[in-house]
Amino acid sequence: MTLVDRVLLGPGPSNPYPEATAALGAPLLGHLDPEFLRVLDETCDRLRTVWGTANARTLPLSGTGSIGMEAAFANFVHPGDVVVVAVNGLFGERMVDVASRYGATVVRVDHEWGEPVDTQRVLDAHGSPAIVAAVHAETSTGSRSDIGELAAAVHERDDRALVLADCVTSLGGIEVKIDEWGVDIAYSGTQKCLGVAPGLAPFTVSERAWAARVPKPPTWYLDLGMIGDYVSGGAGGGRTYHHTAPVAMIASLHAALGRILDEGLDAVFARHELAGRRVQDGLEAMGLELFARKGNRLPELTTVNVPDVDSATVRRTLLERYNIEIGGGVGQYASTVWRIGLMGHNARLERAELILAALRQVVY
Ligand code: PLP
Repeated sequence: MTLVDRVLLGPGPSNPYPEATAALGAPLLGHLDPEFLRVLDETCDRLRTVWGTANARTLPLSGTGSIGMEAAFANFVHPGDVVVVAVNGLFGERMVDVASRYGATVVRVDHEWGEPVDTQRVLDAHGSPAIVAAVHAETSTGSRSDIGELAAAVHERDDRALVLADCVTSLGGIEVKIDEWGVDIAYSGTQKCLGVAPGLAPFTVSERAWAARVPKPPTWYLDLGMIGDYVSGGAGGGRTYHHTAPVAMIASLHAALGRILDEGLDAVFARHELAGRRVQDGLEAMGLELFARKGNRLPELTTVNVPDVDSATVRRTLLERYNIEIGGGVGQYASTVWRIGLMGHNARLERAELILAALRQVVY
């Protein structure tokens, strides 16, 4: 079977950085090989830089972004804990489901889709939650929320409450400052702005959160204590087998993070901003209307209302004629919104011009 070479401009996966793809072809190492453990250690260090944290417990979990969400709730929700979840799209909705499966008493704070999270409404929802959870970059709507403001407000009122942030579509594309913002638990995914294939969930935990963790979480595979004994060594400092680490994926993430840090985080964010602004300006110049609220639009993921054409036909034509993938909307917006991602390696002006030109051809 020959796989076609697509330009992935949907909500993810995006085309990986060339360095990440090349690393997948390197000779495989064992997961306890000292040479591989050096790569793993360096990957965790690089993740700390990208997350903006000194958290010792910063590691790539084996699995896609949802594994990060699952691990976050499984390891920190004690039965009956009140967890306030800000819901402004599909992934906030998913947090409600996952948190309740791990025994949380969930208080959901619904927002209109396309709107950012409203800090005051989240605070007002409950006086003393154990955890407050929100999505930084809502991939279903293209909206960015101010996690720094939310975390500061939560901690100012009650310094025992933990703040949990979904950074799947933000890490490596826009600023994330875990320590400065006071985020306690955060997870991401590799297939978006980090520019790697899907398969790993970068994760980070503060000391405060770690001290309040569930001692024996109701999941073996995602028990962060057991995984930590492999990633950073157990009580005696030795690294013990937990599960076979996806060594090739970790080598690929290591390479992509190296590429990002060589370019410089600020330059990477500026590249995302420039490409995103170009595509958003270009769509508006074509007479199209953007979906997410102005002022909170993500540069890496643009949502636009579908004009008077059949959404699925346009997307299929883009794929078949130009090998370009874009995303449809989610839920009630499935056929009325398109999602255009310019993430990681695709966050470039030439990709913005490419999708604008292709849409002009197909739509008009
Ligand atoms: N959270 C957000 C904001 C996402 O965009 C996604 C995936 O698109 C996920 C969580 C789940 O990640 P995955 O599909 O990699 O499991």
